[in-house]
Amino acid sequence: MNIAHLLEGLNGKQREAVAAPQSNLLVLAGAGSGKTRVLVHRIAYLIQGLNVSPYAVMAVTFTNKAASEMRGRVEQLMGGQLRGMWLGTFHGLAHRLLRFHHQDAGLPENFQILDSDDQLRLIKRVMRSLNLDDKKWPPRQAMGYINAKKDEGLRPKHIDPQDPVERLWHQIYEAYQSACNLAGLVDFAELLLRALELLRDNQHLRDHYQARFHHVLVDEFQDTNAIQYAWLRLLAGPQSHVMIVGDDDQSIYGWRGARVDNIHRFLDDFAPAVTIRLEQNYRSTGTILKAANGLIAHNAERLGKDLWTDGKSGEPVSVYAGFNEIDEARFVVSRIQAWVDDGGRWSDAAILYRNNAQSRVLEDALLRESIKYRIYGGLRFFERQEIKDALAYLRLMASRDDDAAFERVVNTPARGIGDRTIGIVRQQAREQGTTLWRACRQLLDAKVLSGRAGNAVSGFMTLVDNLDEQGCDEVLSRQVDIAIKESGLFAMYQAEKGEKGQARVENLEELVSATQDFEPPEGSEEMSELNAFLAHAALESGDTQADEFEDAVQMMTMHTAKGLEFPLVFVVGVEEGMFPSMQSVTDPDRLEEERRLCYVGMTRAMKKLYLCYAESRRLYGRDEYHTPSRFLREIPQECLEEVRVRTQVTRPITQYQKSSDQFNETGLNLGQRVRHSKFGDGIIINYEGTGPQSRVQVAFDEAGPKWLVVAYARLDVL
Ligand code: ATP
Ligand code: MG
Repeated sequence: MNIAHLLEGLNGKQREAVAAPQSNLLVLAGAGSGKTRVLVHRIAYLIQGLNVSPYAVMAVTFTNKAASEMRGRVEQLMGGQLRGMWLGTFHGLAHRLLRFHHQDAGLPENFQILDSDDQLRLIKRVMRSLNLDDKKWPPRQAMGYINAKKDEGLRPKHIDPQDPVERLWHQIYEAYQSACNLAGLVDFAELLLRALELLRDNQHLRDHYQARFHHVLVDEFQDTNAIQYAWLRLLAGPQSHVMIVGDDDQSIYGWRGARVDNIHRFLDDFAPAVTIRLEQNYRSTGTILKAANGLIAHNAERLGKDLWTDGKSGEPVSVYAGFNEIDEARFVVSRIQAWVDDGGRWSDAAILYRNNAQSRVLEDALLRESIKYRIYGGLRFFERQEIKDALAYLRLMASRDDDAAFERVVNTPARGIGDRTIGIVRQQAREQGTTLWRACRQLLDAKVLSGRAGNAVSGFMTLVDNLDEQGCDEVLSRQVDIAIKESGLFAMYQAEKGEKGQARVENLEELVSATQDFEPPEGSEEMSELNAFLAHAALESGDTQADEFEDAVQMMTMHTAKGLEFPLVFVVGVEEGMFPSMQSVTDPDRLEEERRLCYVGMTRAMKKLYLCYAESRRLYGRDEYHTPSRFLREIPQECLEEVRVRTQVTRPITQYQKSSDQFNETGLNLGQRVRHSKFGDGIIINYEGTGPQSRVQVAFDEAGPKWLVVAYARLDVL
């Protein structure tokens, strides 16, 4: 077979990596240098060039989006469908192992995945049963403790608590884990830990997989944590070849236990390994690259890499100072609109932020202009209340023992099962060491629950049994339809007034269409369609929005943007206290991680990059005044250009008119030219507040737009 095309479009170093002899390989290189491209070509090369069976290949990526892109690209290169290869995220692959070998893993066949929201609920419930005050012992902290321990591979029995506080977290961990085991629930960290234990404790399985996977390839290796690394070591046998690609400057999951040292450990543990460095960047313009390189140079802890490009230097990186977060958002939208007016596509544009919560204002601004957008991660379809309610019914249909699902919908819609009744059920479950469902059955049989409460509980149980019975022979979408209609959820949300209720009904309808289009991923043959779908919903939340292929503006956190690229990128909220985050400014290690995150954000841009900040921002109901981020100062200034032209006024014009009398008290007017002793001449373009608080925004000819307090600014009217 002609395999020349597999080496086409690669530079010398890349080709060396793709066609390397079968050995262990480390590709260490900066952003946009073609690491992922090399990995894709390598897979195709192994299969078509070296006749390796796809069955013998496992490839791991960091997000589900990256995994599906990778599959698509490999198939495109090979000109055909790829069957038998394991390709997915660590979590996805671990889940697959656990499904195949649930018995060896000590899990019921119908085990369900707990996402972090469900996990928190369950932890709260466990804490309640231990009579712990959640004011004093924040459940989130307990969750952090549990997940961190799991990420280190530690079960409660391995931990020797060091002090009374840890003893308490430890106790919660223990109780939480028993509750999960009892109900057949597996949280994200548990997926990895269980899969690790499965391989570690079952030699026949380990032998099988080690013999199977001759080639293991890992993208974004810098973000693997201890347990993922241990997992890789177990899966890769003596005859396996491991290829990892990564960039220490893009390690952004330190807070979740990722270890850059894994790169060093790899070189020891998988010796002899060949290291290949790629230094040419193909993604970004010269200016964007220079700005990003200049920023990351401020980090002390680096393996050190140089990146160059022979592409055009391109436009400067634009910096925009918004008056507040609304102004920032409108600016972003106006620039995206201009991009599209110039012939670009909406999906060329990505808005990247530090925290999910920042998305709402940006969403508002996009909605105002009726621009379609898509959010990856964060407020995801499958995380919406009504969807989670519907999924809870489906989960109960799949497994009655799913306590998390039981708790969620036992009284949703309201059916007269009050807290007191649920309290009795919980207590029975606790005392008998059983699940809530079984506890109900016992209480009904023993007539402890009787009268109205008893009827309500038995009504609920009959309902779930009926849903299951009616649905079991139906296709998935019909099952879902039955579940949402017969459970009363649909009617409940229909009765909810206003847009919110309407949106919820639409979401429920969307869920039915999502199941119509659902194709179980390869490797899920062993499970029912319903189980495959529920796993998919829990694992891939963000990736399954209905409008995946629509031309829409892309929004996501910088963490989620890893590995992706877009022609037009906006990084918003570049302010001290936001980015770097408040918690990181006093901790040098965390500050370096924030800087790497900023490097990741900036290097997503191919053609044009905007860095935006807001001079004031409403956070938790308070207006806060932030200064521009230090990162802006660390970027070589010749790469930057401040955007001066205000494209819009920030408050509705009626507001100015209404209060114009007060504004006139200051003797100033919109559109008036003024002089400032430091900033020179400019024009008043905006104002807010009254009396001593009044501030005006002046677009200075030289210094750009500034907000000034009238009482101090001593502006001379020209
Ligand atoms: P990141 O660190 O952000 O994950 P990466 O190193 O994985 O980046 P890729 O995403 O593989 O980089 O490549 C960046 C861009 O450069 C892609 O659009 C890719 O197609 C292109 N590219 C990579 N190598 C070449 C090449 N030799 N010739 C032309 N384009 C290339
Ligand atoms: Mg990549």
